[in-house]
Amino acid sequence: MFVLGLTGGIGSGKSKVSEWFAEQGVTVVDADVLARQVVAKGSKTLYQIVAKFGDWVLTAEDELDRRAMREYIFARPQALMDLEQITHPAIRHAAKQQVAAATSPYVVLVAPLLLEASEAGLANLCQRVLVIDSREDLQVVRASTRDGQTVASIERIMANQLSREARLAQADDVVTNNASLAELYAQLEPLHQRYLAMAAQSA
Ligand code: ATP
Repeated sequence: MFVLGLTGGIGSGKSKVSEWFAEQGVTVVDADVLARQVVAKGSKTLYQIVAKFGDWVLTAEDELDRRAMREYIFARPQALMDLEQITHPAIRHAAKQQVAAATSPYVVLVAPLLLEASEAGLANLCQRVLVIDSREDLQVVRASTRDGQTVASIERIMANQLSREARLAQADDVVTNNASLAELYAQLEPLHQRYLAMAAQSA
């Protein structure tokens, strides 16, 4: 299966681009969705997290207490690594299963941290990487308008993501999202045709 990795910084337009590919009939596998699914109530991965950290990681409803976990790992880099050692293999396994189950000509695997050192090893499931590049001031405006996050918290997230330059250096293809959505989608159409051809060739 031909897998296109799709990434970009916070508020760069990953969801919008994913929706566009889905409308063309391309299966979209979303690492954020998988990251939530693998730690669902009653899952083996959640059990492993409890075994590692203690049952304070659970809410009264036996779900992962995301806020408590986030606060715990915030100042403890080792704890973050321990957590990722549990979750990353599970995310990767789930991604591989969804890719294998797809019946579309190719698959888009969207992951915010696809190219970061901390990612779940998803980049090597991809034959090609498409980066969405956007001006940082636009990223802040879009992300804060969408879900009311403060500018400070968006900037903190951006500081933990790759710089635009580092992301672009690893891109096979780039679309720019500094103008209208129509202009963004116009760049996707020729890429989609190329990916269809590449997928047909690799099949
Ligand atoms: P995150 O990493 O935070 O999940 P994302 O990369 O998935 O973000 P989107 O959710 O696609 O980004 O876009 C962020 C917000 O900006 C959304 O509300 C989206 O509708 C809007 N947006 C994205 N691109 C444009 C554009 N070119 N013109 C206007 N609004 C846009």
